[in-house]
Amino acid sequence: MQAFEATNYYFHQAAKCLDLTENIRTLMITPDREVRVEVAIELDSGRIGNFIGYRVQHDNARGPYKGGLRYHPAVDQDEARSLASLMTWKTAIVDLPFGGAKGGINCDPRKLSRGELERVTRKFIEKIHDMIGPHKDIPAPDMGTDAQVMAWIMNEYAKYEGFHPACVTGKPVEFHGSAGREAATGFGLAIITREMLARLQRTIAGTTFAIQGYGNVGSHTARCLAQMGGRIISVSDAYGAIVNPEGLDLAELDRHVAVSQKIVGFKGGDAITNEQLLTLPVDVLIPAALGGIFDRAMAQAVQAKLIVEAANGPTWPEGDEVFVARGIPVVPDVLANAGGVVVSYFEWVQNLQHFRWPLDQIQREEEARLVEAFRDMYDLAQRKGVTLRTAAFMKAISRVGRAKVLGGI
Ligand code: GLU
Repeated sequence: MQAFEATNYYFHQAAKCLDLTENIRTLMITPDREVRVEVAIELDSGRIGNFIGYRVQHDNARGPYKGGLRYHPAVDQDEARSLASLMTWKTAIVDLPFGGAKGGINCDPRKLSRGELERVTRKFIEKIHDMIGPHKDIPAPDMGTDAQVMAWIMNEYAKYEGFHPACVTGKPVEFHGSAGREAATGFGLAIITREMLARLQRTIAGTTFAIQGYGNVGSHTARCLAQMGGRIISVSDAYGAIVNPEGLDLAELDRHVAVSQKIVGFKGGDAITNEQLLTLPVDVLIPAALGGIFDRAMAQAVQAKLIVEAANGPTWPEGDEVFVARGIPVVPDVLANAGGVVVSYFEWVQNLQHFRWPLDQIQREEEARLVEAFRDMYDLAQRKGVTLRTAAFMKAISRVGRAKVLGGI
């Protein structure tokens, strides 16, 4: 099974509960537009680097297409399609006036110099600038891209279309970005985890966590949960994992990572493999790296009591069935990691208003939106006797469907 098929499987689970006809289902899952472009640049060595870039615009019934740009060797058309579709449901579940899109470039950003990354980014925007824009399609960071990449995008876009900071979100705070955007996904993850634990009569304080992935999302999630009293006992990156049952000292870990760029070698924990992290007997397991982690065997091996999906698409349908059978609740990606796009929305609004909001206002409003969306999803799941993921998709599909009907097909 491929990623887009997996996303559609979840869509159909919810569509069944909503009695959607086959035609409407096809209309809702088929992406509106898919673009594939060659991104050729001169490398520092003088050779030509050939890369392929994608942008999939899935649905814009509720507003402009919205979604990140991923720079990773696994990026392809199918993955972009799957992630674009997830964005449509994600923006709908938190009720943002956006649709869904996703894109990326098949490259390994760790092997590109800063100059090469800039050239790749500018070339990609040169190729797609006419299909993005503040009221068309608004990119944002995802795996392998950051605020600097977004700054180049804004600057490159301006060369063709003029000054439009709202054409991209996740920009540096001092370059039309928003306070709180960088930490927004991790902060949101912690809020959603708090809400879920409360339904299980628990609190973050006194709870143990393992987090797979220590990039932007994983590291901010760890910090926010630790600030709320959680014990982070294990984290990992692409090179390996570490564990300390007493809880990791994150400040020390961050100092280590700043120097060595890796978690491996950190003295405050024992080295384990990524796979061992996934099967630790923790209270909460948070996948915050690539998608497609939990197949049937891995879902069977998990010992955590709760899963909160920080990554996009970490659970295959067969893994999801195992979690259901084993009674392990899964808080789905489309809500769990939606804090990022919520603050992207605030950034877009601030850019359109040419006005700045303070951090406390952003965090307050992010929290309010996520808490409300969580309550809606949780209550619907209880009422209908379905999983949280199916409830989230039901909520999102109803909203997108309603917009399609109101707008006219
Ligand atoms: N890439 C992030 C996500 O998957 C953020 C998207 C955005 O802010 O538009 O949700």
